[in-house]
Amino acid sequence: MIALYNFHSHSHHCDGKQPMEEYVQAAIDKKFIALGFSAHSPLPFPNEWSLTPESFKQYVQDARYLIEKYKNNIDLYLGLEIDYIPGHSEDFESFITNTPLDYHIGSVHLVRHSESGKIWFIDGPVEGYIKGVDEIFNGDYRAAVTAFYRQTIEMINTQKPQIIGHLDKVKMHNKQRWFSTSESWYQKLVDETLEATAKSKSIIELNTRGFYTGKIDQYFPSTKILEQCLEMGIPVMVNTDAHHPSQLDKHFNEAHQLLKKIGFKNVKTPFFELEL
Ligand SMILES: [Zn+2]
Ligand SMILES: [Zn+2]
Repeated sequence: MIALYNFHSHSHHCDGKQPMEEYVQAAIDKKFIALGFSAHSPLPFPNEWSLTPESFKQYVQDARYLIEKYKNNIDLYLGLEIDYIPGHSEDFESFITNTPLDYHIGSVHLVRHSESGKIWFIDGPVEGYIKGVDEIFNGDYRAAVTAFYRQTIEMINTQKPQIIGHLDKVKMHNKQRWFSTSESWYQKLVDETLEATAKSKSIIELNTRGFYTGKIDQYFPSTKILEQCLEMGIPVMVNTDAHHPSQLDKHFNEAHQLLKKIGFKNVKTPFFELEL
C-alpha cells in the first residue's frame, strides 16, 4: 500500500468544515506522511467560498503554527488553490512573493466570457451552471466549454502552476447531456491543454472529490486523459480535495490502483515521488 499524502484540503478558513488542526490530527491518526493546506485564494469580489484578505492572514498564521507544532509527527505544507480569472485574479507570482507559500495549485472555477466579461461559475449547483451557459453563452455548451479550456490553457502558459487542479471539472454537471467528451472538438481542447502542461512541467492531480461526493461517476481527469498524460510524460499525483477531515483519504487507494493499472510507475508531488 502506498504511503498516504494529500496536498488539496480546505478548512473553515474558506469553504471547508473544520479548523485546520482537526485535519492535522486526522492525518496523523491515519498515518499520513504529508498534508498540504490549499485554501481558495482571495478573489476581488464577494463570494461564499474563498479566503478574504483578512482570513488569508489568519490562515497563513495558523498553518505556520501547525507546521511547527507537529514537525515531529507529520510534514505539513502551506499551499493555496489559486483561481485564474483573466482580468480579475492576481498573478500567481504575486501570491508567491507576498506570502512565502510552500506550493500552489492552479484551478479554474470561474470562466470569463472574453467579450462580455461576464463570469460563469462551473462549480456550484447545476441550476447555476445551466443558467450561466444560457445567459452568458446563449445556451451554446460548446462555446462555454471551449472558454473553460482556453482559460485553463492561458493559466498554464502564463502562470505555470505547480499543480493543475481538477483539469476537466467542466464535465461534472454535464453527464453527457449537452456535449460528449468523445467529440473531436472536445478532445482537441484536451490535447492542447496537455501540450501546454507538458511544456510548463506542471503536475496534474487526479482529484477524487466529484466521485466520492456522488456528483459524477469518474475522477477528474478522466481515465483517457490520464492515459494521455502517461504517454506524454506528464507527472500525476492523487488529491482528495478534502472539505472535511474524514475526506482526507477518500478514494486514495482506488485512485492509485487506477494509475498503476494505466501503467504509471510512480506519482510525483512538489516535494517527493513515490513508487506505485
Ligand atoms: Zn477547486
Ligand atoms: Zn479545492
